[in-house]
This record gives sequence, C-alpha cells and structure tokens, in this order.
Amino acid sequence: MDIGAGAREVDNAMPVFRFAPSPNGELHLGHAYSALLNHRLARDNQGKFLLRLEDIDLARCSLAYEEQIVEDLRFLGVDWDEGRRRQSEHFERYAEALDVLKHDSLVYPSFMTRGEVRRTAERFEEETAEPWPHDPDGVPLYPGLDRSLSEAERDERIAAGERFAWRLDTSAALALHPDLTWYEGGEGPNGETGTVPADPSAWGDFILARHDIPTSYHLAVVVDDALQGVTDVVRGRDLFFSTSAHRLLQALLGLPAPRYHHHDLILGDDGRKLSKSARDTSIRSLRAAGMTREDIVRLVGLEGLV
Ligand code: GLU
Repeated sequence: MDIGAGAREVDNAMPVFRFAPSPNGELHLGHAYSALLNHRLARDNQGKFLLRLEDIDLARCSLAYEEQIVEDLRFLGVDWDEGRRRQSEHFERYAEALDVLKHDSLVYPSFMTRGEVRRTAERFEEETAEPWPHDPDGVPLYPGLDRSLSEAERDERIAAGERFAWRLDTSAALALHPDLTWYEGGEGPNGETGTVPADPSAWGDFILARHDIPTSYHLAVVVDDALQGVTDVVRGRDLFFSTSAHRLLQALLGLPAPRYHHHDLILGDDGRKLSKSARDTSIRSLRAAGMTREDIVRLVGLEGLV
C-alpha cells in the first residue's frame, strides 16, 4: 500500500494522517476500514496518526458516542499520537478564518432557510419543467438571492434579530482562484486520479457558519488539517467532491493543500453505503456478537495488510 507517488504540494516532512469521525452515532465497518488504513499508513511511513472528533453539531454529538469511538478504536488496535482534538473546543479558530473571508468581502449573510431554498427549487421545477441544480450531496443549490442585498439592509435585518447563515460568494472566490487542482492518490467515483481539477461551483454558495452551529464541516476541516499539519487526508470516496470546496477554502485562507486519497466504501448487503443508524454493521454490535479484531479486519478486506 502506497499513497505517495506523483505531484505533491506538501513537502516530505514527517507524514501526518488523521481519522476524523463525528461522535453522533456508532462507528461501522466503513469507519473501521478508514481508521485501520490511516493507522497502518502512518506507522509504515514513520508518520503520525491523529484522532479528531468532528463534533461541531452539539445537538447531535455526545461524549458518550466519543467514548464508544475510543473503545472501538482500542479494540481495533488503533492508537493515536497526541491528545484527541475536539472541534467544539476550537470554535474561535474557525471564527478567525471566517473573519479573514469577511474582511476580503468573500462571504455574505443569507437569510433564506433551507426550507425556503427547497421550496424555491421546487417552484422553479414546477413552473419551468427544468431541473434545479443540486450539490453533490443532493441538496438544492442556494439561489444566491441575498448576495445582492445592500450593506444597510443586511445590517438592519441582523440588528432585528433575523437568523442567517454566512455563505461563501463562490463566484467571487473562483475569480481569485480559477484553476485549483489536488493530488488524488486514490480514486474518485468516476475513476479520477492523479492531478484532479477542483470544481467548487458544484457546491454553489456553500455555508460556512450558521446561527446554531458556528462553523461548517468544510471550514472546520480545512482549518484543522492545516493547524494539525496533516499531510495526507485518507477518507471515504463519499467525501471526494467535498475536496473541491476544501481546496477553494485552503487557497482563500493561504493554507497548504494536503495529498488526498479517497478510498473504497464498505457497502452493506443491499449495495448501499453504511449508515450510523444501521446497527447490524456497527463495530459495537459486531463485538457484542463475539467478533474478534481479526474477524473485522477480514470483513473489511484488510487481511494481511493491517
Ligand atoms: N467527520 C467526517 C465524517 O465523519 C469525516 C471528515 C473527513 O475525513 O474529512 O464523515
């Protein structure tokens, strides 16, 4: 297993890998695969392996799930260097990054709720019989309406206590960084590998912070990967398209680009991606059913490798 060859933006200091689950449910076989793979690569390359808890959504994440994650990783023989990092303890770091983008006039407050965006998209589709564009996660793209509000109107609505989210002005950002790429050591859903062009416009004006969650996944992940010196992001293929948004934020914030490696997903018997609510494939339930570490390593296809 080698994820190294080819063009790189990071130099060859000690490689740093990470496993970054959200403690909002039980780890499943897909997580086990990712954790075991990252851990093996770090150890084989005399690198570091970090554990980061992506717990920005305080309503859905819990310390109880975090403890289960730690227990599952210990069971899998996955140990990590340094203390665990909890994103919820670093909201000020993400706010600083957002301030940079505000200062550069690359973000704006949008007052439309997700429901309003969805209804706008549905209305458009009904009226025109044309498809409304959706992001790679299948969410209708934000129509960009609030981008053109005047400064005075924004201030007035914020002062009146209206809820809003900070969105990136993606077209303005892309005008500054039109030709971003990343190094893909794995493979995208359409076989993309090697130097891959980033396409952040697929996400439209994506959210960077919300009234109830002070940062977004995209913002927190790029800030943390840079702060923690992560050189190699090894994660599931379901996050392949997110890398376009990450590359744009890295460029805007002057952060280095790690190498990326998107790996196969472990699919359920029905051929679908595993989910945190599917108890039958959770590590915890497999352990309770008497499975050993070796059984799980075999189930995820890493036998002889980890
Ligand atoms: N927290 C994300 C997840 O659990 C992973 C983020 C990443 O690896 O970049 O799906």
